[in-house]
Amino acid sequence: MTRYLIIGQGAAGVSAIESIRSVDKSAEIIVVSNDPNGFYSRPGLAYYLSGELPEKQLYIYTKDDWRRLKVKVIQAEALRLLPKQHRLELDRSTPLTYDRLLLATGARAVPITTLGANFEGVMYLDHFEDTRNLIKKAHHTRTAIVIGGGVLALEIAEGLNAAGAKVHYFLRGERYWSALLDDFESNVVTSRLEHEGISIHPNTEIAEILGRAGKVTGVRTTNGEIIACEMVAVAIGIRPRIELAQAAGLEVERGIIVNETMQTSHPDVFAAGDVGQVYDSQTGLKSLDTLWNPAIEQGKAAGLNMTGKTTVYRRAVAINVLRMAGIMTTIIGAIGTGREDIPVSIMRGSSETWRQLPNTIAVAKGGGVNQLRLLIGDKVLTGALLMGEQTLSIPLQEMVSKQVDILPIRAQLLQPEAPLGQLLLDYWINKSKGQQPYA
Ligand SMILES: Cc1cc2nc3c(=O)[nH]c(=O)nc-3n(C[C@H](O)[C@H](O)[C@H](O)COP(=O)(O)OP(=O)(O)OC[C@H]3O[C@@H](n4cnc5c(N)ncnc54)[C@H](O)[C@@H]3O)c2cc1C
Repeated sequence: MTRYLIIGQGAAGVSAIESIRSVDKSAEIIVVSNDPNGFYSRPGLAYYLSGELPEKQLYIYTKDDWRRLKVKVIQAEALRLLPKQHRLELDRSTPLTYDRLLLATGARAVPITTLGANFEGVMYLDHFEDTRNLIKKAHHTRTAIVIGGGVLALEIAEGLNAAGAKVHYFLRGERYWSALLDDFESNVVTSRLEHEGISIHPNTEIAEILGRAGKVTGVRTTNGEIIACEMVAVAIGIRPRIELAQAAGLEVERGIIVNETMQTSHPDVFAAGDVGQVYDSQTGLKSLDTLWNPAIEQGKAAGLNMTGKTTVYRRAVAINVLRMAGIMTTIIGAIGTGREDIPVSIMRGSSETWRQLPNTIAVAKGGGVNQLRLLIGDKVLTGALLMGEQTLSIPLQEMVSKQVDILPIRAQLLQPEAPLGQLLLDYWINKSKGQQPYA
């Protein structure tokens, strides 16, 4: 009987378990997890923080699901991987041997390193326990500082604001998420935040976290300002948890390097999810995606390959549909602005592809919160960002993902003052009516 060992009970690990079980009904599957809360929706944590989702709705699987999968769960930290011996050492259990192993260890929040970083009141939104702590602490917080440039920092700022704290949101640069959003889009987001009562501080970083008796009492900014607060919430990026792989001698860069079958540099060790740095046959680059859907798809491919069913993972166009300052937003493909505001690492819930600045023409149209920006290549759209009104979300996702030929409307799209939304919608509807909706 084959023994499969999975490290990590997140989206990638669980998806791999599903696909292994779909092929091999009798295999022994063991999952090692250091998170006592098991499998839950990590994107849902932001909605739990804002009070929009109750705790129990974050759990995706029922007891019946786990029984169906016939998985043994070991609560432990995986400490050392010995690929040649096919052996894994754990902190509070005897070592395990395996036939095939999956590293689905995800990524962890990058810690702040300024003076005072260890004071009680410096918080992260990384996993379930963090979120519970944030919620508890928010009840006793009059003023909170939030730092970080991506979606997560925004979600924390809004969550704390909803809990009644006075929130100061520090931006390292002039604008919010400037590697991805143009000036107008950034302003739409930050104006909404200000309208909700959040104070935005551009070009501001924390020089020192101030404290008394081990607890946060304030911050001193790089501009010399002192702001009293009880909490500093940090979302400055994440780093894939590559330590096990690195110590085991597997090939790593920013993540664990895998080929198109999710196999690492050792044939019986696979990796998937936030920790995997995946070869993209279209760009020739090895990229990181820290998104839920790619984690599921990578886990699925890894699981099948572990059973011997060769399955190539093709990196799909990275898409996220999210809420920014209450505005529904769809981000698709390469839409970078060419500016770099997050040099630390990748942010949670994003893709390295988004920051790429392709050789395309950017056109934008909008007013108020409704914005549409397209990155137009020679024949296809390489990316799109849609804020507010979402009628075009699915058409754009399809058009970018399936590389729909836009030549018939390209010149019109590039006209000054072109009605971009209407042109695209009409084109998409007409294409959909035909037998072959997409080129
Ligand atoms: C607050 C938040 C909001 C997000 N929002 C979005 C969003 O809007 N859209 C989106 O697409 N994605 C979003 N994401 C990202 C998405 O949730 C992740 O990309 C996805 O969960 C990655 O799954 P994974 O299985 O690779 O890793 P994880 O879910 O991180 O699972 C890895 C598991 O492995 C465990 N582990 C690590 N090392 C060891 C070890 N040595 N021994 C034992 N266990 C170990 C970890 O504790 C963890 O439980 C968000 C994430 C967070 C936290």
